[in-house]
Amino acid sequence: MDRRQFLFRSSLLAAGAALPFKSLFASSQGGFNTLRRNVGYFTERGGTIGWLASSDAMAVIDSQYPETAKNCLNGLRDKTDHPLNLLINTHHHGDHTGGNPTFKGVAEKMVAHENVPKLMKKANKESEDGGNTAFPETTYSKNWKMDLGDETIHAKYYGPGHTSGDSVVYFEKANVVHMGDLVFNRMNPYTDRPSGASMQNWTKILSAVADEYPSDAVYIFGHAKPKYGVTGKKEDLGVMRNYLSAVLDYAQKGIDQGLSKEEITNKKSLEEFDHFLYADFWTLSDNLGVAYEELTQS
Ligand SMILES: [Zn+2]
Repeated sequence: MDRRQFLFRSSLLAAGAALPFKSLFASSQGGFNTLRRNVGYFTERGGTIGWLASSDAMAVIDSQYPETAKNCLNGLRDKTDHPLNLLINTHHHGDHTGGNPTFKGVAEKMVAHENVPKLMKKANKESEDGGNTAFPETTYSKNWKMDLGDETIHAKYYGPGHTSGDSVVYFEKANVVHMGDLVFNRMNPYTDRPSGASMQNWTKILSAVADEYPSDAVYIFGHAKPKYGVTGKKEDLGVMRNYLSAVLDYAQKGIDQGLSKEEITNKKSLEEFDHFLYADFWTLSDNLGVAYEELTQS
């Protein structure tokens, strides 16, 4: 990992740290948006928060940062007086769990895949300020579900993808799926190999999810290039999967030709995915490096 990658990774792990990529994580259309049946999403800074707010249930998916989590909670209080039943963390990164301390003691349950507290603890060791100790205390290994009011919420683990603790969260009645960071809509995704990411399995996850949920499901994405937005359809999962496959194919061809990692990663864009270029964010070159490491297990 070079210095830029190290700084980037540290910024994602540290909840309160000033982000060098702050502008990237600020949404151009911050605030509350309703999708279907009292389910919607909130954007301000960090990973998109999904929410359920009705007269008999309240839940949030991911927690952004302490200040924005407060804004989210206050906004939800305008929608319902119901206590907050549930927080699910889709994975451990600081822009999805940094607001956990705000929800701790407020949310009746904090849920995540069983690897999430472990990865948070690992990240805390790398942090200068002791990190985030508001861990999700309810964990699961493959499937988890809960009835809340007239909604049923499912969390499911499909194996390693963006990290080794990604949940796909499904609001069954509303037919809305929160993908966490398994989808960066039309931008080079961050691929956290030190936290157990697998680009090869990630492609399989996206195919499995697209097949498994109803064809008219609405999807919420962790991040997006503003032009494309943080929600979408099944087809958008296909675009993300094709990108990951193209990166893996390109790296594999280079390996087969005996090229070095430096030669393989010296590439700015793959033709079909020019529109994935975004600011100074985690680049194609970074992802080719991860693909190279994964394919050669170096
Ligand atoms: Zn992430």
